[in-house]
Amino acid sequence: MRTQTIIIISVVVFIIVAVGALLYFILRPNFSKNSTKYEIKNVIDSLPKHSSKTYRKRSVDEIRKIVVHHSACRGNNCNATAYATYHVNSRGWAGIGYHYVIEKDGTINQCNHDTTISAHCAGQNSDSIGISLSGDFTQEELTDKQRLPLIWLSQQLRAKYGNLAITQHKDFSPTACPGDIDFESIKKQITVA
Ligand SMILES: [Zn+2]
Repeated sequence: MRTQTIIIISVVVFIIVAVGALLYFILRPNFSKNSTKYEIKNVIDSLPKHSSKTYRKRSVDEIRKIVVHHSACRGNNCNATAYATYHVNSRGWAGIGYHYVIEKDGTINQCNHDTTISAHCAGQNSDSIGISLSGDFTQEELTDKQRLPLIWLSQQLRAKYGNLAITQHKDFSPTACPGDIDFESIKKQITVA
C-alpha cells in the first residue's frame, strides 16, 4: 500500500514536471520573439532644427507611399543626428529630411512626425514617408540587421495608413539611392504579409 502510494505520487510528480517542461519549451520561442520585436524610438525633439524655418504639415489621409533611401554615409559618424545637422546647416532645410532612419545597429529612429512634409525626395514629399537606411549600399551589403526593421516598419506604416506604395528614391530621381539593395525582394516581403 505504502509502495503503491509512493509510485502514484512519483508518477503524478513526473507528469507535472514533464508537462511543465513541455509548455516551457513550446511557449519560450514566443517570449523571445516578443522581446526581440522592433520598436520605434522617437527622437523628433532631440534632433537639430533650423532656427526659423519649419516644415509644413499634412493630414494622415494624404500619405500614399513610402520612399526608401540610404544615407550614402560611410564611416563612424553615420546617424540621424549627423544627417539632421547636415540637412539644417549645409542644406538650409527646416530639419532632417527623413521621417525614419534605420541605424547600422537596427535601431529605428523616428525623426519627423508622419504628418510632416519634410524634404527627402524632390516632387514626392507631399504624399510620402521617407525611410533612410544608414550606410552606403553602393559600397556595402544590406544585412538583416537593417533589412528586417525596414520590412517591419513599412508593414506597421501600411497597417496604419492603408496600403502605401513601396518605392525607392531612384524610382523618381536620377540617383543611386538607396544603392544596390535587392529592392524587389524587400518590396515583396513587405506587401505579402
Ligand atoms: Zn535618397
